[in-house]
Amino acid sequence: NRQIRFARHPEGMPDTECFTLETRPIEPLAEGQVRVRNHYLALDPYIRMRMEKKDSYAPVMALGDVLIGRTAGQVVESRAPGVAEGAWVVGRLGWQDYSTATPSELQSIDTAKAPASAYLGALGSTGVTAWVGLVHIGGVREGESVLVSAASGAVGSVVGQLARRKGCRVVGIAGGARKCGIVREKFGFDDCIDYKADDFLEKIGQAAGDGFDIYYDNVGGPIFDAALPLMRNFGRIPLCGLVSQYNATEPYGVKNMREVFNKRLTIRGFVISDHRDVFAAATSELEAAYADGDLVYEETIHDGLENAPASFVSMLQGGNVGKQLIRIVT
Ligand code: NDP
Repeated sequence: NRQIRFARHPEGMPDTECFTLETRPIEPLAEGQVRVRNHYLALDPYIRMRMEKKDSYAPVMALGDVLIGRTAGQVVESRAPGVAEGAWVVGRLGWQDYSTATPSELQSIDTAKAPASAYLGALGSTGVTAWVGLVHIGGVREGESVLVSAASGAVGSVVGQLARRKGCRVVGIAGGARKCGIVREKFGFDDCIDYKADDFLEKIGQAAGDGFDIYYDNVGGPIFDAALPLMRNFGRIPLCGLVSQYNATEPYGVKNMREVFNKRLTIRGFVISDHRDVFAAATSELEAAYADGDLVYEETIHDGLENAPASFVSMLQGGNVGKQLIRIVT
């Protein structure tokens, strides 16, 4: 069984030396366990926080651990009543070829409705993250104006489409003209501004019109700062992630905090595992949007488990459009 294990704490941006590829024997199953052949592995930014030495909202990994990660795969051996061999499942099963799990760690998926990989992205916890932040935390209402950062990424692309479906005007922020084109044309945002361009502040100011009701923040740092003066009074900022800060060696000092006071903004951080009570509502809306053709998704797929470390680093640097995945079984 090939596994990728945590080998070294990164300083700043991780490199492939932070990971090792090892092969271990496959252990026999105990009663109540199943074996899953992992087909797709999701590479999520939060894993970078798990590589720190200090816990964040979730505990850090220990050196030598198999990397944490969500996979979609197929049950190839079962000693658990009710889980059939051949069933497709997702779970947090780690960066490895095969995983041993109990049924409570698995969620079954319907590959007749959508490809298995979609359940690691728009139709899985990525889509749920978008919904929880926009609807449950942000309280989006029809006709509002919504700003979304990391708009070409897995979460951001779903946020914008859900907001459009609710009759909102949506502006994205993404790195580079190519990504902004995809955000506008494929994901249907009203506009998208390139934060790497010299005229970013001018362009985002123009795109704001009379201000944003919601800023769905995936990145923190200078983009968060730039968004604050563009908010309307009583605007809401669901704080989903801080990807611009995960590799920072110095914390970013926000300059526009006064706007939070002047405009009476609400900023609320959230982690989806605290909101399991709304997962069913989120999933049914995501599935309905997908079935109606209102939710499309992109994937950046690299082949081979051994390439997961390099792909993870590439994703943190913006190498992906949509969900960054590894195809383990080619
Ligand atoms: P993405 O698919 O959006 O990939 C990360 C993207 O971040 C890159 O493509 C890159 O896009 C962007 N990025 C990287 N560095 C910077 C920077 N310095 N400034 C601005 N953008 C940057 O990842 P996900 O959709 O999986 O995750 C998006 C966010 O959601 C992350 O912050 C993640 O931690 C968070 N998250 C939070 C959850 C929760 O429960 N709160 C659950 C899941 C995800 P570009 O080329 O545009 O720079």
